[in-house]
Amino acid sequence: MTTKIDGKAIARRVRDQVAADVAAAYPDPATAPGLATILVGEDPASALYVSSKRRAVREAGMRDLHQSLPEDSTQAAVAAVIDDLSADPAVSGILLQLPLPPGLDPAALIDRIPVTKDVDGLTTESAGLLARGEFGLRPCTPSGVIELLEAEGIKMRGAHAVVVGRSALVGHPMAEMLLHRDATITVAHKPTTDLASVTRLADILVVAAGVRGLIGAEHVKPGATVIDVGIHRTSSGLAGDVRTAELEGLADHVTPVPGGVGPMTIAMLMRNTLRAAQWAQQRTGSTHVPAESHPDRRIDLAAAERASRQFLHALDISTDDETMRRTPRRMAKAYAEFLTPRPFDLTTFPNDGNYDELVLAREIPFHSVCEHHLLPFFGKAAVGYLPDERILGLSKLARVVEHFALRPQVQERLTKQIADWLDRELRPKGVGVLIEAEHTCMSLRGVQAIGANTVTSAVLGTLRADVRSRQEFLAMARNR
Ligand code: NAD
Repeated sequence: MTTKIDGKAIARRVRDQVAADVAAAYPDPATAPGLATILVGEDPASALYVSSKRRAVREAGMRDLHQSLPEDSTQAAVAAVIDDLSADPAVSGILLQLPLPPGLDPAALIDRIPVTKDVDGLTTESAGLLARGEFGLRPCTPSGVIELLEAEGIKMRGAHAVVVGRSALVGHPMAEMLLHRDATITVAHKPTTDLASVTRLADILVVAAGVRGLIGAEHVKPGATVIDVGIHRTSSGLAGDVRTAELEGLADHVTPVPGGVGPMTIAMLMRNTLRAAQWAQQRTGSTHVPAESHPDRRIDLAAAERASRQFLHALDISTDDETMRRTPRRMAKAYAEFLTPRPFDLTTFPNDGNYDELVLAREIPFHSVCEHHLLPFFGKAAVGYLPDERILGLSKLARVVEHFALRPQVQERLTKQIADWLDRELRPKGVGVLIEAEHTCMSLRGVQAIGANTVTSAVLGTLRADVRSRQEFLAMARNR
């Protein structure tokens, strides 16, 4: 039995969730995220795409800040519009609709879009962030494919994923996103010889070649998931790159065309626009810091509970009797809590009084888990900074510690991450972090370590460069 993945329903859920998040975070519609679509010329297909994106923006409660430019616009004229939108704080996201009329260089124009507003995820900088697995906005179509796979519970970790196509828009980022989810990746493209022998290796086959009917039964391993990204307009309606009818009973899951990947692209654009707005806020005065900065993070409590039960059984610990029956669920919840920092607003204020002494929060209690054994370590942190143009809501220093502590960590990295983050977000003259902690894993390994503290520090800027400032920070941080 082959399941048809219902992209329409999954896209609907994503869009409803974005609309609910927008309503909750921006009760005043005048401050809601704004998407500036740019349409150069009057290509009917492009005009149709742009109008459905604009409709979706309005439906999500966001602001439609569309710009239409004439067909004969020069490169400089389009660049000037992008620069204006880039500088405008009302604009959260900028989308330059492709293709552009002949004579315009799309790559140069796209690269003018600031990375925080790059809701299509197509700039060189966004591609770099994706390659390195860092926070950024991802291209919408491959994000939509990931969303479909996750919604259907299709396991990516350890699966062999074959992506047919290596375009910057779909195939290339698709392969990277699957790689970040621990799939084993093969990328096939036009010069690939014997395509069928490559695609038959796939547990997950994503086809984005733009060749109608390229993939049929001879290309597919029994039980595979086949995702058809291709879109072709035919006299009998839309068709894809996959001859889906041939896969009935052979593949486990397929996406139809229409109604598969197509609706996901706009849904992910809506999600990117909201994320762009939140990301921009982080860079200015009041920053909403989400619970976990990785954009694709999900917690599946039911799966964690099942895994906890298996883990206990593997250790020959029964969960059958009444006292242990609920332990797997408690473990799952406890670890989810342990590994999920609360979101918070990082509120900063202009340093109107030119305050330039050390600001220090000491004895901030924290707990974390070491990534080597997932055992707790806990202790106290001291976090200080020398203000420059902005000062910080003081209680937030503890929140920053928590933000980086509640994830699998090593103490040295935790110390450095807190310092680096404050350096980036607050831009102080100097920042210092000192952590003293006790590690459960040390006592496990026979070290007489109960009550033994390990100390790590990270100092940046003036606190690093100037010996007296550094000594002052360390002495005050350790209360000596
Ligand atoms: P593209 O033309 O830029 O890239 C096509 C890629 O497929 C290339 O890397 C090429 O090497 C490879 N390819 C071409 N013929 C091949 C063959 N015979 N065997 C193996 N590889 C082959 O196209 P694109 O922008 O990546 O789009 C691909 C398809 O996806 C198109 O049909 C497009 O309309 C569709 N698309 C759909 C959505 C959506 O929202 N569903 C979004 C973007 C693109």
